[in-house]
This record gives sequence, structure tokens and C-alpha cells, in this order.
Amino acid sequence: MDAEHIDGELSRVLVTEAEIQDRLAALAKEIAADYLGRDLLLVGVLRGAVMVMADLARELDRHVEMDWMAISSYGSGTTSSGVVRILKDLDTDITGRHVLVVEDIIDTGLTLTWLVSNLTTRGPASVEVCTLLRKPDAQQMSVAVKYVGFDIPAEFVVGYGLDYAERYRNLRCVGTLAPQVYT
Ligand code: IMP
Repeated sequence: MDAEHIDGELSRVLVTEAEIQDRLAALAKEIAADYLGRDLLLVGVLRGAVMVMADLARELDRHVEMDWMAISSYGSGTTSSGVVRILKDLDTDITGRHVLVVEDIIDTGLTLTWLVSNLTTRGPASVEVCTLLRKPDAQQMSVAVKYVGFDIPAEFVVGYGLDYAERYRNLRCVGTLAPQVYT
């Protein structure tokens, strides 16, 4: 869906479809070079990372495997607590594997910190993270994020996999919602 179909619901487009695709292509080149000669397992975090995974994986001119996890983070409203429950675990045994976690957005980084430490206990050869979007608070997290698409302001954004009340995931761009949508 293009932004024009939800006229007035976005207050601002932060990242356009073309900017997303260009950046993912550049990240894919970096990733392909870094993992040259090594197997690569992409781990997507449902549901927000579906779009990033689909487009990033297709930009990678090499073999990859893909697997998915669904996790729920307990928190109050839009605040993440870092207390996480696995709703769907990986089907793949990641022992000795090179794992690249594919994320849509890192806000506080609490969810990702938990996820990376959980994956690390399974004995992978390596665990790195690729995220399309990163908010300022995430800079303070202990886990290093190797591949970042865009650093964005600390605002609530929707589109390209990210939802507000399950809507807007199918929007091609990333934008901030107009205030009347919340009320
Ligand atoms: P964190 O643990 O604070 O980093 O939260 C990460 C999760 O919160 C993401 O995977 C999203 O599901 C959700 N989230 C954080 N910021 C936004 C946003 O601006 N829009 C939509 N979802 C968000």
C-alpha cells in the first residue's frame, strides 16, 4: 500500500520505499562480503521483520537459510520491559551456525538483548544483528548491532512491517502517524 491510499493518516514520511530498497541493497552487499565462504542463517523476528527479511534476503546474491521466531515482550502499553516469552521457537538447530538476526526496529533494545543472549546459549558460531530502523535509546544497549538501515528519532513509526493496532504493516514506506489516528 502506498501512503496516498491513507491520505491524512500519516503526519510525515520518514523513509521512502526507494530509500528502504537502496539501503537494504547496500546492507546486503556488506553482509555478502562479510560472510563470504561461510554458511548463513537469517533469523527473522515475527511479525514486524517480515518485510525486511523478504527484501533483504532477495538482495543477497548467495545461498541463505531463513528461520523465524515469535516472541512477546511484556510491558506496559508501548514500553518494552525486557521480560520476554517465546511464542514460536526456531525449527533450526543453530549449533555451530552463523546467525544473523533480522529486525525491523530497535527501540530500547531490551527485546533484542534478551534474544541475542538466548541464541548465544545455543552454541552458534556467531550471532550478529541487522535492523532496518534504530531509535536513539538503542545506542545504550550492550549488544552491538552490526548492520543498521536508518537511525530515526524517538517517535512511534508505522509501515514496512511495523503496526499500530495491527494496521499499516503493508505500507511501503515508514512514517509517523497523525495525532487524530490515536484518538
Ligand atoms: P524494544 O525492546 O524497546 O527495542 O522494542 C522492540 C519492539 O517494539 C519492536 O520489535 C517493535 O515490535 C516494537 N516497537 C518499538 N518501536 C516501535 C515503533 O515505533 N512502531 C511500531 N513498533 C515499535
